[in-house]
Order: sequence, then C-alpha cells, then structure tokens
Amino acid sequence: MNKLDKENIFIKDLTLLFGIVLLFTDVFFLVFGIIYDLPLIRYLIYVKLVINSTNIVLILKKHYLISTVIIYSVILLMMIVGIISLGLKPLFQVYSLGMLVCISYNCYLHDRVLKKQLPMFPTIAIHVISYAVMYIYGTINEPLYRISETGENVLIAFNSIVAFAIVILYVYLYHYVATNSEEKLEKMAMVDNLTGLYNRHYLLGSLESREKAALENSWLAILDIDDFKKVNDTYGHNCGDYILHQMAKITEQVCTDCIVCRWGGEEFIVISTNETIKTDILEKLRKKIESEEFKYEGDTLHITITIGVKSYDKSLSNDSWISAADEKLYLGKKNGKNRVVI
Ligand code: GH3
Ligand code: MG
Ligand code: MG
Repeated sequence: MNKLDKENIFIKDLTLLFGIVLLFTDVFFLVFGIIYDLPLIRYLIYVKLVINSTNIVLILKKHYLISTVIIYSVILLMMIVGIISLGLKPLFQVYSLGMLVCISYNCYLHDRVLKKQLPMFPTIAIHVISYAVMYIYGTINEPLYRISETGENVLIAFNSIVAFAIVILYVYLYHYVATNSEEKLEKMAMVDNLTGLYNRHYLLGSLESREKAALENSWLAILDIDDFKKVNDTYGHNCGDYILHQMAKITEQVCTDCIVCRWGGEEFIVISTNETIKTDILEKLRKKIESEEFKYEGDTLHITITIGVKSYDKSLSNDSWISAADEKLYLGKKNGKNRVVI
C-alpha cells in the first residue's frame, strides 16, 4: 500500500469516526429530548439521524467534501437549536469553538491528500459569527424550555466532554503530523537517496558530536571504486547507479557494527568506533567486491575498490583525519589500485 493510499484511508477513517461520534450524540440528545420533553430538540434529532446516517454512506462512497460540509452544518444547527431551546447554561456554544481546530485540520488534510482547497477562513468566520450571534441571542432571550438543574448539569458535562474530545483529538493529530514530518525531514537530510546510506552531512555531524575519548580506538576508511568512469562510459549511468547501490549493500553486509556512509560520488567512508572490529574486515570487503559478479541488463561486470585507512589520532581534527585516510587512498591508487592501504 503506498503513502497516498494510506493517507486516503486515514482521511476516510477520521471522517467516519466523526460521523459515528455525531450519531452517538444524536442518540444521547434524542433520549434527553424524550426524558425532558423538548419537542424542538427531538424534531431536530429526527432530521439529524436521517442526515447523519446518510452521511456515513457518503463517507463510505468517498464524498468527503459533501460529508464535511454536512458535519459542520449539523453541528452548527445543534448549537443554534440547543441555545434557542435551553439557553447558554448547558454550553451548546462550546461546539463552535471546538470546531475551529477541526476545520483547520480538515482543510490541511484535504489540501495535502485530496489536493482540494477547502475555504478555511470563511468556514471559521461562519463559526465565530454564529457563536457571537447565538451568545447575544442567549443573553437577551429566555430559553424556550425549562429543565431541572440535574438536567442542565448533565448537558454541561456531556457538551464539555464532547467538545474537549474533539479538540484533544485534533490537537493530537496536529502533534502527530508535526513530529512525523520533522522526523522525515531530518532523515531525508541525513540519508543518501541512491544508496540509502547515511550521507556526508550525517557523518560530519556524528563525528563532531562524539567525545574525543570515545574515538580512541577508532579507524576510518575511505573506499573508492576503481575506474568507475569506465563503468558509466561503457554501460551507462543507470548501470553506474546500480553498482553504487549494490556496493553500498555489500559494504553494509560485510562491515557490520561500523558506520557506513556515502561520502560523495563513488566514494564511501567506513568508521569503526569499536576496538574489537579489526581493519581485516576491509581486506575481506575488498576481496568480496573483487569476486562479485554484478549483473545488469544481461551484462556481467567486475569491479574493484581501493581503500585508504587511518587510525584515530587525537592530535588530528576530524577533517585532517579524513584527509589522512584520503592520502592513503591516493597511495593505493598510485600503486596499482585494488588494495587496502593502512
Ligand atoms: P579511479 O580509479 O582513479 O578512482 O578512477 P575513477 O574513474 O573511478 O575516478 P573519477 O573520480 O575520475 O570518476 C568518478 C566517476 O564517478 C565520475 C562520475 O561520473 C561517477 N559518479 C559520481 N557520482 C555518480 C553517481 O551518483 N552515479 C553514477 N552513475 N556515477 C557517478
Ligand atoms: Mg573518486
Ligand atoms: Mg574512483
């Protein structure tokens, strides 16, 4: 399942959850309207039950836009009828406040997943104006019905819980989206697209953040594919990319417990900060690459690598450490390639 499918299912589940919550509140208000004999609320609920049930079908048929408009209208209507019937005390007005965060998230999700712009500011304005108008109406006019204090308290609790639940749900969703996106961006900035290895940016940051004492038994190796230009020139750039991808895979397989990253082009860096890992592993890697048959679109290729290694020396800066390994690599290239120079 791809990312867009997942997000489409998410938007469906979320709208469905909201639709079901609305149905649940309908049942509550219907029972309440019958117990306290509130005809206006009862009639509204009969209409709402029909609308909200139809809405579930609309959601299942993926008519999210119509469904969202229905959900907003129904909640506004409930607030208006609630205040006309019972005044401000049972807190029907909190729904329009709670809806603000829901509107903002829904607009974000529609824009991102369905590439449809919902009119966020007009919708928010409608809710804010409705709140203000109904608040003024509630302070000027007497409610249509009188109910017991217990009934009022039940409504205060119910309306507050539902409104809080709406706000908490959407705040949580925003939090989830924000942290998830940040993590993804951080990872994208640290990982090389082609090979999936860490990149130069990650490596330098990682070395910088380590205490010198923690690097005491470390070594750093620069690997460079020999005559890689010829691979590109003979078999094409895509074949070159394939070799780089395979090379990364093999290096990770052989150099376990090491940090492997793509330094740039066809150069890789392997670092071991663990004294039990010996540089012999690099000779093993060189031999493995040398004997490997790389198969690409009917061709079989053989490649070799040259490796320059430098053990950690606390008098060296990180840049000089890498340059020292690079000098060893240069020596290896000069002396015939396909070798490890320590
Ligand atoms: P040497 O043995 O001295 O290392 O020779 P070489 O041909 O490997 O070295 P050189 O640095 O001259 O060439 C490196 C080549 O790597 C040049 C460039 O086209 C290729 N290269 C760098 N990055 C990529 C990449 O992402 N994909 C592909 N396909 N090729 C790349
Ligand atoms: Mg090179
Ligand atoms: Mg090369």
